[in-house]
Amino acid sequence: MNEIKHLIDGFKQFQLDYQSDVDGKFSKLSQYGAHSKILIIACCDSRVDPAIITHAETGDLMVIRNMANIVPPFQQDSAYQETQAAIQFAVCYLNIEQIIVMGHSRCGGVRSLLTRLMDRVDAEQALDKWTALLEPTAKQVLTDMPHDSLDEQSCCCSRRSIICSLDRLKAYPWVKDKLKYGKMTLHGWYFNLANGQLENYNSEQQQFETLY
Ligand SMILES: [Zn+2]
Repeated sequence: MNEIKHLIDGFKQFQLDYQSDVDGKFSKLSQYGAHSKILIIACCDSRVDPAIITHAETGDLMVIRNMANIVPPFQQDSAYQETQAAIQFAVCYLNIEQIIVMGHSRCGGVRSLLTRLMDRVDAEQALDKWTALLEPTAKQVLTDMPHDSLDEQSCCCSRRSIICSLDRLKAYPWVKDKLKYGKMTLHGWYFNLANGQLENYNSEQQQFETLY
């Protein structure tokens, strides 16, 4: 119960800010809706909340969070419509101009996928079926670095999965159109929990570089 009380106390503080609304920010958001120009697709891991990490304010970001920040391949009849629907809303209705796919180190979802593949177990449960969307990437990591530790394999797989998700995004019809006319930019970020650094994927150099 203490955890819930902590949340309610936090909300009380937020409500004070909301009701005082010094610069009219909340009333504008309430009246005119959100005008976020950035969509972040992040993992649901409690340590990597995009709004907390970037010190964003209410209304700044549209956020999609799922296990291991995966963008599924675009398919009209895909079983994974939730992420697709949110991306469509962001691009077609909010006219989002930037999409960031943000992965992170020590990702439980990526780790569970690698472990399952090493144990040669079929994907039967929901978690395994979802992370199986990264299976080709994970299998390539295990082939490329068979003697590295699971931590190192996981970090590599997380970085490569960001690139995979960016490639998939480029095939989403609405994203494709905006990219074609220069109305959208895609970014790949990797948050390293071990050293607190944020890396950005440089697509020309094909490598991650420390942003900060
Ligand atoms: Zn994760």
